[in-house]
Amino acid sequence: MKRLEGKVALVTGAGSMNGGMGNGKATAIRLAQEGARICALDLHLAAAEETCELIRAEGGSAVALAADVTQEDQVQTAVAQCLSEFGQIDILQNNVGILKTGGAMDSTVEDWDQLVHVNMKAVFLPTKHVLPHFVDRKAGIVTNISSIAGLRYLGTPYIGYNATKGSIISFTRNLAAEMAPHGVRANAILPGFIDTPMARDITEQKSEDPDAIDWDALDRQRAERIPLGRVGTPWDVANAAVFLSSDEASYITGTEITVDGGVSCRV
Ligand code: NAP
Repeated sequence: MKRLEGKVALVTGAGSMNGGMGNGKATAIRLAQEGARICALDLHLAAAEETCELIRAEGGSAVALAADVTQEDQVQTAVAQCLSEFGQIDILQNNVGILKTGGAMDSTVEDWDQLVHVNMKAVFLPTKHVLPHFVDRKAGIVTNISSIAGLRYLGTPYIGYNATKGSIISFTRNLAAEMAPHGVRANAILPGFIDTPMARDITEQKSEDPDAIDWDALDRQRAERIPLGRVGTPWDVANAAVFLSSDEASYITGTEITVDGGVSCRV
């Protein structure tokens, strides 16, 4: 018996830039490997479809949905499509997030607004529109992707990103307390340095010569700062998501799982 047999999971941000492996994509695949049927939602249908093809190739069941999670009508439509396809939703994994560099003085108002707009609505809107279904069924699991950057300054000024990721922790705790009487659990995952297309993209943006980046050397430098001695992979995040989605976590709500190889212990 797989751990999520009979369950349906809606995973947002389940595609990934340029065919790479992101946290949402890996989570959709791992949840499917544990038996869940998957609604893979992404901004771009082709990216979500690629994730579904990987799931189907392993014998799983998945449907791709295109939606912008900051647009309420698109989120409502996506939730309705998922319910129409599979008849139920048991797990909502809010994975969408964007990253912009900048400190308190040099962040632009436009960047600030976009971070708040995307990162906060990415947890609020899908949750708002899945909850009525969870309340009807007296059960449901919400897992939000925050970041260890939501806890403390990590050495690079990302003030807008870090503030929104900190807010996701607060949102999750409030949600857990409010919805526990309805049988709904809510937790957050706080990844550290995870090798994903988004992480590589931001490194390239900061570099004067992106083509000259020596990724292996960079990984070795990063690994030296990580107590467990390696950069994280999207599978590390996905495995935490599987646990939080499983019955083994049935008494766990309103908390955070840090997936950072020990970085936040040392900072
Ligand atoms: P990723 O590979 O870029 O995956 C994010 C996915 O979300 C992309 O497919 C992206 O589409 C999609 N997306 C962006 N905006 C969207 C929107 N408005 N509506 C629907 N889909 C949207 O990034 P990742 O590194 O896996 O990050 C996933 C989550 O992990 C984020 O919340 C991030 O903050 C968090 N996290 C990452 C790290 C890390 O080191 N990578 C560390 C801590 C936390 P496009 O590619 O088309 O934009």
